[in-house]
Amino acid sequence: MEKFDVIVIGAGPAGYVAAIRCAQLGLKTACVDKWLDAEGRPSLGGTCLNAGCIPSKALLESSELYVRLRDEFPEHGIQPGRARIDIAAMMARKDRVVRELTQGIAQLFQANGVVSVQGHGCLQPDRSVRVTDDTGKTAAYRAEHVILAPGSRPTQLAAAPVDGDRIVDSTGALAFEAVPGRLGVIGAGIIGLELGSVWQRLGSEVVLLEAQQDFLTMADRQVAREALKTFTRQGLEIRLGARVLSCRVRRNKVEVRFQDGDGEQSLKVDRLIVAVGRLPNIDGLCAPGTELALDEWGYVHVDEQCRTSLPGVYAIGDVVRGPMLAHKGSQEGVMVAELIAGRHATVDYDLIPSVIYTQPEIAWVGRHEQALQADGIPHASGVFPFAANGRARAAGETGGFIKVLSHARTDRVLGVHMIGAHCSELIAQAVVAMSFGASSEDLGMTVFAHPTLSEAFHEAALAVHGEAIHMARKAVRRRAE
Ligand code: FAD
Ligand code: AMP
Repeated sequence: MEKFDVIVIGAGPAGYVAAIRCAQLGLKTACVDKWLDAEGRPSLGGTCLNAGCIPSKALLESSELYVRLRDEFPEHGIQPGRARIDIAAMMARKDRVVRELTQGIAQLFQANGVVSVQGHGCLQPDRSVRVTDDTGKTAAYRAEHVILAPGSRPTQLAAAPVDGDRIVDSTGALAFEAVPGRLGVIGAGIIGLELGSVWQRLGSEVVLLEAQQDFLTMADRQVAREALKTFTRQGLEIRLGARVLSCRVRRNKVEVRFQDGDGEQSLKVDRLIVAVGRLPNIDGLCAPGTELALDEWGYVHVDEQCRTSLPGVYAIGDVVRGPMLAHKGSQEGVMVAELIAGRHATVDYDLIPSVIYTQPEIAWVGRHEQALQADGIPHASGVFPFAANGRARAAGETGGFIKVLSHARTDRVLGVHMIGAHCSELIAQAVVAMSFGASSEDLGMTVFAHPTLSEAFHEAALAVHGEAIHMARKAVRRRAE
């Protein structure tokens, strides 16, 4: 039985990062992964690279270019002629981006001496890992430490069973061969909004059915209101409080029955995307007799440092509590590698940024205003609109705003919330500032290059104390004790 210092199960952004960091720290490391691409070849990178973050962003980029060409170029005095969409070429580009990145992980494994093992890994009661490859052949490996990083899969909805043709999950929605005429999306969460946006931009009439009464409950209310207004103006039909009851495929159409405030309704669409969340991949992860504790929601139970109930076994990424985000899993991977190497390491779960890659983009870090209110934390708020920012005007990207929330007494920044162009990049400044415990006054005294969108962050921080320069009326200043 081959022996390692560390075996990682799963080569998504949690597992592959953990494996590389372990190897960098001098640990003999193997990483087991079962993902195969459409041609049956191993493809590292997990959901993120193969069917998540990367392919979705490739399609968001392509569809955004199409919209800009169609709607914005003429205003710049550029007449490119009639824009035409070639879905096959768009998908081929997306597949190429994915292929290059997944091959990049294989090269990184090689360069760092990580042994890549293809197959399904199963933790045994004696802590060894049994791997079954795609031909059914098995092999056993032993290690001092095991890191479980098997990720997650789309949640199924009994009322809308995925058939891979008319009714698809997020993976299917990244591979449509043609633009659906009318597209239904169940779930107006991050994935539903991003995928709905791709196809709406390319010409689909998109209806999102969301069971909750409120839109984007995890975001700051002010941001969520602005987002709903903007998406609706763009043409996304977002029906809140709409719970799907059943679906029926007939003559190439999907008939969706749902219940909302007006009673039972029905909707006919050409394709339906089910995007109602994700579930941890637990099935087949452990052999019978391996007493790995799960938490009450079915995730692998871990402590703050990702230790499971089994000595020497860690779990990271989507399979454990916390936001299902690639960068959260990667940071846990680094932390666990450091711990195994005998170093000190932690993850600051309060400072994990969230991003929704719609247009405008939505991003935040830290606490939103409704949470501060609920906990009775005295705070001040500064808001600055992109419409008052010179660079945003020059770029024609004037929608949205940045909001800074800071403690009313200490002035320490508690949360930053943004909606607007390029917020996925802008949010990093807030994360860095908050990591170093910045106050809004610190940010106000910092020099930001002109003209940049970042100046809106500067002005929002100044607005906390009513000192924003480029605002016609006194900055809105609120204090809640
Ligand atoms: P995964 O990426 O799911 O990887 C787990 C790997 O383990 C897979 O390759 C799986 O096949 C393998 N595996 C599972 N069980 C076993 C086993 N027993 N043996 C061997 N191998 C096994 N997050 C962001 O941060 N930003 C985004 O923009 C973003 N966009 C997304 C868009 C979509 C459409 C989707 C679906 C998700 C998106 N996410 C995004 C979420 C992100 O993809 C996940 O949070 C991330 O991939 C989780 O990483 P992970 O390493 O925990 O698991
Ligand atoms: P997320 O967890 O961000 O991927 O979002 C999934 C969304 O799907 C959540 O906002 C849920 O409220 C929503 N959802 C879950 N079940 C249903 C359902 N049966 N009908 C409509 N929306 C649903």
